[in-house]
Amino acid sequence: MKIIYNKIIPFKGYLAMCVFPFIFVRKDARNLTVKDINHETIHLRQQTEMLVIFFLIWYSLEYVIRWICYGFNHSKAYKNISFEREAYKNQSNLDYPRTRKHYAFLNFL
Ligand SMILES: [Zn+2]
Repeated sequence: MKIIYNKIIPFKGYLAMCVFPFIFVRKDARNLTVKDINHETIHLRQQTEMLVIFFLIWYSLEYVIRWICYGFNHSKAYKNISFEREAYKNQSNLDYPRTRKHYAFLNFL
């Protein structure tokens, strides 16, 4: 994993974004915490098991479906994507990326 600090990715208002094998972090955002890095590491595991491209397709489709279901509410749609639910629920457990079962995000649909 390589952390890249920049001014563009992710969009303003977000701290970090994982696209295997990188974690992009906004330069103008607060410093990353251990919990933040763990959250992004969980996304790295999810992306690896889905060969990155299938993760991106699934993530995008699930976002759009949830965005419609939640009345075009971006925040609710984002927080309820199964990949995000798994990452937010387990970001405080530093062993989780190492011990999680493959495709564990399916338990968060
Ligand atoms: Zn996330």
